[in-house]
Amino acid sequence: MTSTILITGANRGLGLQFAKQYADDGWRVHATCRDPDAAEALNAAASDRLTVHRLDIRDGAQVAALARALADEPIDVLLNNAGVIGDRGAFGATDYAVWHETLSTNTLAPMRMAEAFADHVAASARKQMVFVSSRMGSIGDNGSGGDYVYRSSKAALNAVVKSLSIDLAARGVTAVAFHPGWVSTDMGGASATIAPADSVGGMRAVIERLTPADNGRFLDYDGSEIPW
Ligand code: NAP
Repeated sequence: MTSTILITGANRGLGLQFAKQYADDGWRVHATCRDPDAAEALNAAASDRLTVHRLDIRDGAQVAALARALADEPIDVLLNNAGVIGDRGAFGATDYAVWHETLSTNTLAPMRMAEAFADHVAASARKQMVFVSSRMGSIGDNGSGGDYVYRSSKAALNAVVKSLSIDLAARGVTAVAFHPGWVSTDMGGASATIAPADSVGGMRAVIERLTPADNGRFLDYDGSEIPW
């Protein structure tokens, strides 16, 4: 049976790579992005398997409308990928407006997506919710300080994922957080050590092997455990 995935932020970076790889693998792909008119690479990948949808994940009305439009479609994997780095200012130079925006995108929006699409996921065969977090959100791994905005947004996302994994377990849903590695996207920059194809290939292999026993785990792109 064909599996279905919904991906946020699919117009570039890791999201685009996920969309292409899953479509190439025969999956039904709902690839979402803020501005489909400008999503050249994603539109080039559109096919009878890959549909492009407009979705700003901070926009509750858009999220609800897409959930309604896909009401009859089970979604095997809800892939919350979209994210922003926010403000990287050092202590004493915090941009609080940007911090609000970053929390809205990296923390509140994935929760909104989980609430909007829980029924679609629970109705599917795989029943998986995947959240692209970051090792920067690990409190146990923080040995270098700084990056208050991004770190806190991903640490809070991790707390959301952990609670979802408990609250949705009775519906058979498996929820995990991933660190994708340091990847050469617009966010990761040119010095990053991992190519998007390798990061996404690694995460896909882990997602393929996920079982309910993995529910609530924080995983590196190679499947190894990351401390919360
Ligand atoms: P990227 O190249 O900067 O892409 C970010 C994606 O998120 C873009 O498609 C962007 O869309 C989308 N996005 C941002 N705000 C959005 C919104 N409000 N609604 C919908 N889409 C939105 O970054 P990336 O490296 O692919 O990052 C993907 C995920 O991996 C993020 O969650 C990031 O935090 C995480 N991550 C990345 C790295 C790394 O080294 N690259 C490391 C750890 C974690 P627009 O084009 O419209 O802006």
